[in-house]
Amino acid sequence: MEHLVNDLLHCRLQAWTFPAGIEARWLGEGILQLLPTAPWRQATILSAGVHGNETAPIELLLQLTHDLSQGRQPLTQALLIVFGNLPAIRAARRYLHNDLNRLFGGRHLAVTPGNESRRAFALEQAVQAFYRAADAAGPVNRGHLDMHTAIRGSLYRQFALLPAHAGDFSPDFYQLLQASGMDAVVRHTEAGGTFTHFSCERFAALACTLELGKALPLGENDLTQFAAVQRALSRLLVGDLAIADAPAPLRYRVVQQLTRHSDDFRLHMADQTLNFTPFEPGTLLAEEGETRYVVGPEPEYVLFPNPTVAKGLRAGLMLEKLS
Ligand code: ZN
Repeated sequence: MEHLVNDLLHCRLQAWTFPAGIEARWLGEGILQLLPTAPWRQATILSAGVHGNETAPIELLLQLTHDLSQGRQPLTQALLIVFGNLPAIRAARRYLHNDLNRLFGGRHLAVTPGNESRRAFALEQAVQAFYRAADAAGPVNRGHLDMHTAIRGSLYRQFALLPAHAGDFSPDFYQLLQASGMDAVVRHTEAGGTFTHFSCERFAALACTLELGKALPLGENDLTQFAAVQRALSRLLVGDLAIADAPAPLRYRVVQQLTRHSDDFRLHMADQTLNFTPFEPGTLLAEEGETRYVVGPEPEYVLFPNPTVAKGLRAGLMLEKLS
């Protein structure tokens, strides 16, 4: 893994060659389009490192890219590999100027220009170019998996976040999440600035964010913990989803967002509160001046509680259980 990581950090991935049968093209730094020479029916984006310090998925994607370059991983569909935020990856930081995963869908135009606003724009352009190239011989199905790791501990080790969208995703997509070993699937109910919301909303991609455990320094993760998702991705690239030996993930949906607007914001949760911790109906979750955030008539489960986010950003999501 060490020499793969060094190639990524020192911009040497561009020197990797791919076997006959795969046409490789760099659409930007860390953005690699792979098109099979044989016709395809599916176009998938696999991304990691949108948050620079979420390392395990970066290693996983590096390994997969290397396997493709060595001819060990076959490919029967159009694929875009994205290493999201290389300056942040090099600095081992979540981001340098702005949280990249809040800037998609044009939201990068509303912040002071910086590393992430430029990158969000470049990634939006690349996604558009890729899906257009993938449709060259007629429209194909679109997918996007954006891989992250959670900052804090969680009652579930691995879970998926679906962007808000009308209707439901296909059973095949849920099967992919099940085969990937996801313990839970959370559905957003409002638009957001995430990479997967962008690909879902603008390009009707079956898209989701995967949260794959906690991160160690780049190059030091134990990838055996991610064997299920690694296996599922490997099968996805050859169009084989007919497996699901893991139990079906539990389903949740977002019912309210806790937002920090000012220094008065108080989150009434212990610092180490785990993701998916339940709260009883009527519990006071947070307050800010006159605003009180209270659990509704059913128990709610917290996701990503964080009282120290920048003003205007999400300090936590509250979920209800669907299954
Ligand atoms: Zn992340």
